[in-house]
Amino acid sequence: MSAEILDGKAFAAKVRAKVADHVGRLKAAHGITPGLAVVLVGEDAASQVYVRSKGKLTVEVGMNSHTHKLDVDTPEVDLLALIKQLNNDADIHGILVQLPLPKHLNEALVINSIDPAKDVDGFHISNVGLLGTGQKSMVPCTPLGCLMMLREHHGSLSGLDAVVIGRSNIVGKPMAQLLLGDSCTVTIAHSRTRDLADVVRRADIVVAAVGRPEMVPGDWIKPGATVIDVGINRLDAPERGIGKTRLVGDVDFASASAVAGAITPVPGGVGPMTIACLLANTLTACCRANGVAEPEGLTV
Ligand code: NAD
Repeated sequence: MSAEILDGKAFAAKVRAKVADHVGRLKAAHGITPGLAVVLVGEDAASQVYVRSKGKLTVEVGMNSHTHKLDVDTPEVDLLALIKQLNNDADIHGILVQLPLPKHLNEALVINSIDPAKDVDGFHISNVGLLGTGQKSMVPCTPLGCLMMLREHHGSLSGLDAVVIGRSNIVGKPMAQLLLGDSCTVTIAHSRTRDLADVVRRADIVVAAVGRPEMVPGDWIKPGATVIDVGINRLDAPERGIGKTRLVGDVDFASASAVAGAITPVPGGVGPMTIACLLANTLTACCRANGVAEPEGLTV
């Protein structure tokens, strides 16, 4: 068997087109333009790339993009003051503080100082609680993107056995909440799970969010299962030339795709969906702030 490839790049382009269409209608009917503020502290190379690409795609869908770059040694009080200013700015509907933050900054304190209604990453403790209790919230972008792909592929997820590997606050835990919300029977596996292979073999849906290159082999996958590979791992690739690298997921794509029913590739799977969902969340936040109907299918 050869798995259907779940093309996150194509699906993300569809989500962005839907966002752009709705942004156009918001402008025409209400004179409102959604605004996203991204705050970057320090010079982390990967973060700079992410922030640039977020800014570019925000503008592409017709939203206003505001990037705030702060020095690596910015005092916490200054960062909190900037967030307060953005919280009070009616033209800003979404605020994202790029993680990780430099060590001297208290990540939880910073995230929880964002107005929950503008917390487009969905990491604020209020949004975590709302999601956990099945109430309307801002939903973390990566798990939201995974859920959209799963819904698109399966239609209903009701009653399916889902295993989420990884229990981080950013991916694993909210992913499990979303799958539970869609009536899956959910297992969260992690670094202390006994006999991970056996746990994964039971799953109709496997979401791998670990950060270990190709750790899930094909013989852990139940034939026909759907595999969502969240992992992004950069490996040296001397075969491509000196100093070259390549990206791989947490799943061994070659062996897993021979067994699975459907699978996301890395790159080109979950990654593009994450930014598309950030834009969707910014639009959702803007609609809620202005009491305007939210577009269908862009949040849970
Ligand atoms: P994290 O380090 O916070 O969490 C990793 C989790 O994996 C932990 O809960 C840990 O218990 C579990 N784990 C570690 N070793 C394990 C093992 N041997 N067996 C089972 N579980 C194990 O990571 P994260 O932030 O959740 O990210 C996970 C991966 O997803 C990373 O590769 C990251 O780069 C990637 N990621 C991708 C996107 C995207 O847009 N595609 C977004 C966020 C994270």
